[in-house]
Amino acid sequence: MLGCLQMQTRRLRTSFNQPSKPGLAGLAFAAKLARMPKPNPFRPFIPDPEQMALKPEVSGNAINGLGEQERRRAKVVYWAPDPDDIPHGAMQKWFYSVRPDAPALLKARAERQVILDRPLAPLADSKQDRAPEDWTAGLDSFVEQGVCEKTGVARLQADWFYEGKSSDFDWIIVLGVEHDYDEISKAPEPEAGGEVIRQYGRAAGAAKAVASWLRAAGHEAEPVTGPMAGALTLIPPALACGFGELGKHGSIINPQMGASFRLSAVLTSAPFVPTPHQEFGIDAFCQNCRVCEQACPPDALFADKQWVRGEEKWYVDFDRCLPFFNQTHGCAICIAVCPWSRPGVGANLVMKLARRAQRAADAQGPEDPSDQTR
Ligand code: SF4
Ligand code: SF4
Repeated sequence: MLGCLQMQTRRLRTSFNQPSKPGLAGLAFAAKLARMPKPNPFRPFIPDPEQMALKPEVSGNAINGLGEQERRRAKVVYWAPDPDDIPHGAMQKWFYSVRPDAPALLKARAERQVILDRPLAPLADSKQDRAPEDWTAGLDSFVEQGVCEKTGVARLQADWFYEGKSSDFDWIIVLGVEHDYDEISKAPEPEAGGEVIRQYGRAAGAAKAVASWLRAAGHEAEPVTGPMAGALTLIPPALACGFGELGKHGSIINPQMGASFRLSAVLTSAPFVPTPHQEFGIDAFCQNCRVCEQACPPDALFADKQWVRGEEKWYVDFDRCLPFFNQTHGCAICIAVCPWSRPGVGANLVMKLARRAQRAADAQGPEDPSDQTR
């Protein structure tokens, strides 16, 4: 049944790639397919009573600020380094009781631990001076060497930190590592969970490599790695420094990696220049696509944006998602089925969306007639 779902998604993506179709027609065809109801092999989802007995009184959506129109800092809702610090801590512990002996998970965790145990380079006594542009350009070598697939830099903002947390560093370097598509496509099977753990390990390795590079040049640097929550949320800085746009499934969509990647970061005060924020038309694309909504077993994805801590955005219903996520030891279905996650599709889609936007702008004409006289 999942194969059927994936086959339909594949067909949808194939339609994006047909060179004979004009861009608009291709997109309209894809959008029509994406709206068609698809059978979901995991519905109805019946949560395990043992897990549900651990559910706290407070809703995870309330902790996240669903429905709140005032801005406030995020609170740690899950993946607390000490589960006893959060209301959903008992459910976080239960997560580890699922599939404890799956070879794909055990192997990936052992490999990740080796990376997590790796020491950082010592801090050099003297600070190397470079122009800010050179520091930012220096990050390219980590992509060229395959340490990570994408980098970006943003000036640290206080409201990216969880409530009660802060930092004296000036900059955040965000790093992205891509999942192997064939492995993540097996979601929610353990092979997909293993791939997520493997890429969290790679992301940690990338953060340590960049932090070590800076420390060897005399600049203090602190790696920030998942999956446990650190001091700050990584999605807002990644959006700020050009990783892409938030998708309906609550993950960032990037034209090269789709939604199929993990993030890590490095905090530093070495002088960098920021990487520009970028938009590709992905947000509007999500308005007309329902692939992840239909594929999500517990129906945790909203058709429309929601108010969350003073911002109207795509949001995942935490209380619906968590039981299925835990019960499958990681789920990842929504990022696997997203059309953007299929290798090679994103760049093609971005070109088509840009052409569509240009046609719409041409049809509209200049906004202010006085512009033509300048
Ligand atoms: S991760 Fe959560 S939101 Fe995504 S498909 Fe699974 S249950 Fe749904
Ligand atoms: S996140 Fe992906 S699957 Fe979901 S609506 Fe947007 S494009 Fe479609």
